[in-house]
Amino acid sequence: MNNKETKTDVILVGAGIMSATLGTLLKELVPEWEITVFEKLPSAGEESSNEWNNAGTGHAALCELNYTVEQPDGSVDISKAIKINEQFQVSMQFWSYLVNRKLINNPHDFIMPLPHMSMVQGEENVTFLKKRFEAMSNNPLFKGMEFSDDPGQLMEWIPLIMQDRRWDEPIAATKIDSGTDVNFGALTRMLFDHLKTKNVDIKYKHSVDNIKRSSDGSWELKVKNLDSGSVESHTSKFVFIGGGGGSLHLLQKSGIPEGKHIGGFPVSGIFMVCNNPDVVAQHHAKVYGKAKVGAPPMSVPHLDTRFIDNKKSLLFGPFAGFSPKFLKNGSMFDLVTSVKPDNLVTMLSAGAKNMSLTKYLIEQVMLSKEKRMEELREFIPDAKSEDWDLVEAGQRVQVIKDTEAGGKGTLQFGTEVITAADGSIAALLGASPGASTAVHVMLEVIQKCFPQHMKEWETKIKDMIPSYSVSLMENPELLHEIHTSTAETLGLSKKELVLS
Ligand SMILES: Cc1cc2nc3c(=O)[nH]c(=O)nc-3n(C[C@H](O)[C@H](O)[C@H](O)COP(=O)(O)OP(=O)(O)OC[C@H]3O[C@@H](n4cnc5c(N)ncnc54)[C@H](O)[C@@H]3O)c2cc1C
Repeated sequence: MNNKETKTDVILVGAGIMSATLGTLLKELVPEWEITVFEKLPSAGEESSNEWNNAGTGHAALCELNYTVEQPDGSVDISKAIKINEQFQVSMQFWSYLVNRKLINNPHDFIMPLPHMSMVQGEENVTFLKKRFEAMSNNPLFKGMEFSDDPGQLMEWIPLIMQDRRWDEPIAATKIDSGTDVNFGALTRMLFDHLKTKNVDIKYKHSVDNIKRSSDGSWELKVKNLDSGSVESHTSKFVFIGGGGGSLHLLQKSGIPEGKHIGGFPVSGIFMVCNNPDVVAQHHAKVYGKAKVGAPPMSVPHLDTRFIDNKKSLLFGPFAGFSPKFLKNGSMFDLVTSVKPDNLVTMLSAGAKNMSLTKYLIEQVMLSKEKRMEELREFIPDAKSEDWDLVEAGQRVQVIKDTEAGGKGTLQFGTEVITAADGSIAALLGASPGASTAVHVMLEVIQKCFPQHMKEWETKIKDMIPSYSVSLMENPELLHEIHTSTAETLGLSKKELVLS
């Protein structure tokens, strides 16, 4: 039954970090546009953006070894790390702008300074880490990075990891103090609180069930009010599908040709959490290791200090796993119902190509707590089972598509913005590097969907993000200025100021 019809300028589907960021950007650029948000859960930031569903790493490529690849000639390609670092600087500038204008407050409620470290064992890995360090530390984006294979120095940096360790293999680490721990759940909620003050209509417990194009080119959404059970009809000139794992189904319903031949591969995750204050006090860093052979890049093990609700804890993981759900609060039929005639071949090809990955993920789901403790003990040799609890992490849906390089059904590990040719609808698929680069990705949505406004909006965008359309790596003075001002505004480490 349709008991309500409304028209608006912009509809954002989903109340995660992506919709929060796009809504906030648009309200700064065109305050007069009317925005409505539909979220099926009772509050914002409850799916992947929630603080306990992701690892809270401010991904700036300071410690993630999978962003730097060893080439056949032995050199280390750092181009992906440069790209991600530049994208993270965009987020930092926007968050800093919001704090400076008092649009959000108390930055330490969502971002904390925390050293980022990479740690490896074994001679070959140590040689790789050293080469990677040499390639990165000469770049202004990564200045301040330190390398050590000296046990005394490592004991000072990471006592919890070094004590009680057997010395049968070489071990080395890099450390950079300008890393961050980000509470993306808190940030999402802050942004939605801010949007409420800007008259954005945020409707929780409203599930978008269908999206159809109207004859005048606008979009009509069928939205179920989960309290009353009634179905409402809402029309908008522009729709952003920011449903996280739920985006693929809605993109398919929109029927746009750009959404065809795309599938989704769900990867679930489990973390281990330690709240014992004696153990927590002995570690202060995010320490990323190397993914195990056969493991997907998103399951690189890391031991992180987390700051959630002013409390410090330790997080280890993620252990990847397989579940057919596309959202943590999703349905067991999500994977099956995402298979359509147009993506059937793509999905079957991906299935055939990724048998070993699927087997690996299913084996991971079956791991006992003690088996997971064994993996943790590669980081903390004397970790005690009673100090660690298992927590279910968020769900990721990796994009599957046909590519020239990989052929039919190639699994992608990044984020993808899919837009209609006329820019009236956009969807965000994929998960990595995710929330950290939300501002860059949402600017990409704006550029693709509102090209006619870009000239008029450019001055305002530069006011919010001084490095917009500029390479910071090639402008070390601007980089220094931005590092200094964002560190001051967001209350980050003063050591960061050593950077330039
Ligand atoms: C285990 C794990 C670790 C991660 N670690 C990091 C990290 O360390 N650093 C980092 O930057 N990123 C990390 N990420 C990625 C990051 O969490 C995501 O990229 C980001 O949160 C995605 O935000 P989103 O707004 O797109 O989706 P979400 O936060 O999932 O929000 C989507 C919202 O849409 C709603 N929704 C879905 N369908 C509908 C519908 N039909 N109608 C109404 N509402 C709907 C959902 O209920 C949900 O609230 C991690 C992710 C996972 C799973």
